[in-house]
Amino acid sequence: MIQLTSNCPYCGWPDAEPFRVVSRHRTAEGETVWTRCGCGSSQVRSVDETGMHIMARSRPPQACPAGH
Ligand SMILES: [Zn+2]
Repeated sequence: MIQLTSNCPYCGWPDAEPFRVVSRHRTAEGETVWTRCGCGSSQVRSVDETGMHIMARSRPPQACPAGH
């Protein structure tokens, strides 16, 4: 199993310990897991026989591109 050693780039939360699991979906390969970090950044993770992988990560909602 691959252990996640990365951290959230916005708040530093360890990716190995999802702050909140939003939903899980079975797929042909394993599972897709949506999680949300403590800072509000959501992540899409895929789980297969090798472990968990982060497929996508969004910015926290309060990070307004206009700087407000
Ligand atoms: Zn975070």
